[in-house]
Amino acid sequence: MVYMSQAYLYNFEGRNSFIAEEAMEKLYENLNLQIDEGEIVGIKVHMGEYGNRTFLRPQNVKPIVDIVKNRGGTPVVFDTTTLYNKRRNNALDYHDVALEHGYTHEALGAHVLIADGIRGYDGACVKIDGGILKEVEVASAVFDMDSLIVLSHFKGHNLTGFGGAIKNLGMGCVTKQGKAAQHKVLSPEVMEEKCVGCGTCVDICAYGASHIEEEVARIDKERCVGCLDCLSCPEGAIRFPLDKRDEFQERMADAACAVKSLFDDDRICFFNFLTDVTAYCDCLGVYMQPLIPDVGILASHDPVTIDKASLDIVCKKGGKDIFYAHHKMYGEVQLEAAESLGMGSVGYELVEI
Ligand code: SF4
Ligand code: SF4
Repeated sequence: MVYMSQAYLYNFEGRNSFIAEEAMEKLYENLNLQIDEGEIVGIKVHMGEYGNRTFLRPQNVKPIVDIVKNRGGTPVVFDTTTLYNKRRNNALDYHDVALEHGYTHEALGAHVLIADGIRGYDGACVKIDGGILKEVEVASAVFDMDSLIVLSHFKGHNLTGFGGAIKNLGMGCVTKQGKAAQHKVLSPEVMEEKCVGCGTCVDICAYGASHIEEEVARIDKERCVGCLDCLSCPEGAIRFPLDKRDEFQERMADAACAVKSLFDDDRICFFNFLTDVTAYCDCLGVYMQPLIPDVGILASHDPVTIDKASLDIVCKKGGKDIFYAHHKMYGEVQLEAAESLGMGSVGYELVEI
């Protein structure tokens, strides 16, 4: 028998208005997440890079906060620091971005936490029998959460084809070291014939992995974490190995599996927002035009199911190459890898509510 999970869809089509509270309550009713009185419930979000305008709005997070509170739980809205060196690279700067994006206690009715410490190195290792990774450093605060609700803005991604629940777990809930263990495989190379030895990449690199030698940039592979900040080389002399993106997805699935293993099946659930579906991730601090009209919100206990269902729906609306046209990849490797790790099922039943 083929195992199938349910994905519940609150479809915007045919509805005159969208009431976030009603939508989230209807979806949540089908999930029946276990929350006991006084327990801490993590609500994982991505609060958007500074300048991004399509990140998940706090107005869509607040109804989940209320649901948790109404069931006696203590919600905490959280994310982790980034590997790349922009405004969310440390917890203090990230809190400033969160404020600017409306993620305040006043607006949410819950605390906002950067879960991997001030600099992003606060975590502990979880052992896994992953396809590649055998241990993953998960953000310390995640260990203190009794249940986890993962809210993801579903969109395209230049390294993984698309980003949804699996990415939000695997990349979004781990420390810098946990992120580096995945990103390292993307460590870039310098095209010497293009390099003019200007040193910009040396100044950019926050990990001391780049230096100039005989007027050409060199990257120390031991130090490089694959953050890809140096791709901004003004001469276009740095490129990352495109053919390593499949392995990157496998590593990400391993990391997602490690995070998920901390929660029993009735202690974790996922919501994917198929709204403002852009070609690129919310880590880009720019305005991006959505590729399709807003579709709705999906919910599931299964991260593989919810991502596969999200991808299918978006491809149905925008064409199967909607993300491929931008990234020359479909992102199916992360689904296959996560399914092979027992995280869930690509076979699913879509239930409209
Ligand atoms: S920024 Fe580009 S051109 Fe300048 S040293 Fe680095 S690789 Fe060379
Ligand atoms: S060399 Fe480039 S990719 Fe590697 S850590 Fe430095 S900036 Fe990041």
